[in-house]
Amino acid sequence: MTSSPHRHALVLFSGGQDSATCLAWALDRYERVETIGFDYGQRHAVELRCRGTFLDKLRAAFPAWSARLGQDHLLDLGLLGQVSDTALTAERAIAFETNRLPNTFVPGRNLIFFTFAAAIAYRRGTSVLVGGMCETDYSGYPDCRDDTLKALQVTLGLGLDQRLVIETPLMWLDKAQTWRLAQALGGHTLVDLVRRDTHTCYLGDRTHWHDWGWGCGECPACVLRSRGHARFAAGANSGAGP
Ligand code: ZN
Repeated sequence: MTSSPHRHALVLFSGGQDSATCLAWALDRYERVETIGFDYGQRHAVELRCRGTFLDKLRAAFPAWSARLGQDHLLDLGLLGQVSDTALTAERAIAFETNRLPNTFVPGRNLIFFTFAAAIAYRRGTSVLVGGMCETDYSGYPDCRDDTLKALQVTLGLGLDQRLVIETPLMWLDKAQTWRLAQALGGHTLVDLVRRDTHTCYLGDRTHWHDWGWGCGECPACVLRSRGHARFAAGANSGAGP
């Protein structure tokens, strides 16, 4: 457990693999951990449904973490649907646009999420925000970049006149290393929970089962997740991991 003055954390928990792993990381590190999720009219609400299931099973499987796990905040950000026209919020196919970003991109989404999270954290006396953003295996979203989030940390701290820390434990990990982190934190039980009860697929597919979890297997999110799991599993089988 950390000895820093920052003992309470608020984790941006979407129900996906990355934020679920970050939640375990925070529970291993902080005295008190709360979670926040955002409903912004996703085409698939499946990820949000996974949140509750994952939290329930995490509490049951890890009693010590359950004792530290506090309130879950779910914010309705339906207004994002008014300022975005993307495949996540409208009935359009996922494609890569001329700027090489997938059209699932909601411009500035993480800036908005962290700003609302900071307001909740301020009210709750929490000084650490934890997010699963990553620059290693990612789709190129500029608001996932380390520099973006470091600048935002400074901005939010100044705007609230209170020291605020944004932690991104996955920033420099690839997807295989993210699976390994779950293994290190919670062993096979946590890896299995992440496989079965988190959701990453852009299409919201919960009908096709793979050894890395549920998903269509073909969208960019599924491809990243499956390739990472394959490298993780190969390392574990060869004795090189976790
Ligand atoms: Zn998919």
